[in-house]
Amino acid sequence: MNIRTIREARLRAAAGGPEILAHPGWSEAWPWLLQGTTTRDRDFALAAGDPGVVWGELASAIGCRAAVHARQPHGSAVGVRAPAGPGFHLAADSDGHLTREGGVMLGVTTADCVPITLVATPSASTPAAVGVLHAGWRGAAAGVLERGIRRMRDAFGIRPDDLHIHLGPSICGDCYEVGPEVHEALGLARPDAPTPVDLAGALARRAVEAGADPTRVTRSAWCTLCTGRELLRSHRGGDAGRQIAFVAIKRSPRR
Ligand SMILES: [Zn+2]
Repeated sequence: MNIRTIREARLRAAAGGPEILAHPGWSEAWPWLLQGTTTRDRDFALAAGDPGVVWGELASAIGCRAAVHARQPHGSAVGVRAPAGPGFHLAADSDGHLTREGGVMLGVTTADCVPITLVATPSASTPAAVGVLHAGWRGAAAGVLERGIRRMRDAFGIRPDDLHIHLGPSICGDCYEVGPEVHEALGLARPDAPTPVDLAGALARRAVEAGADPTRVTRSAWCTLCTGRELLRSHRGGDAGRQIAFVAIKRSPRR
């Protein structure tokens, strides 16, 4: 299976906003889309400070009225978000968020796990929809990606092969050594001893098995531990902090 690897561009989320890594092809193709992963520039861990301030600043820097996040139990719950009020919203525990609302920034925190961004572009009959998921090995094994793809269909009528899916900066297949039980949980051959696993690669295969079009699936070249060590936070590298992967639709999605 041929999944394209892309190197996200480093840019500022907005004037005075934090540095982010953004999917260059998406930014170019869809000016109505706001997306990226933050860098070491700023810590977005819930424990790091007042999330209402930290997240609210990013949301307003990119022109969003609201930000939605949740504590992430490494499960498969994915919620549809349409917050009524402005500011930061902490949703019920879940590892994924979807929305069709403009001006609502969805975010997951990561520091080695794979942030997955889902984008459905608008058509004559269907408005745009976006989503973001958090997938470590437990969430991947629990089916968070499949759940996100299915909810896009059930909630918004979007077919899996119409989705664009990006697996963002995460620990790479050389750096992520895990026990045999992890390989087994991911449906891979069980090795005899701890062996590195390519979690993003496993997720890309699962996306295609769930009906995604492989030509619309991309993965990041950035590894939180080796190639992106200076830029990103890594749990295995000893960082307590987190970056966020965010996605939003600008307030007027139709150009
Ligand atoms: Zn690596």
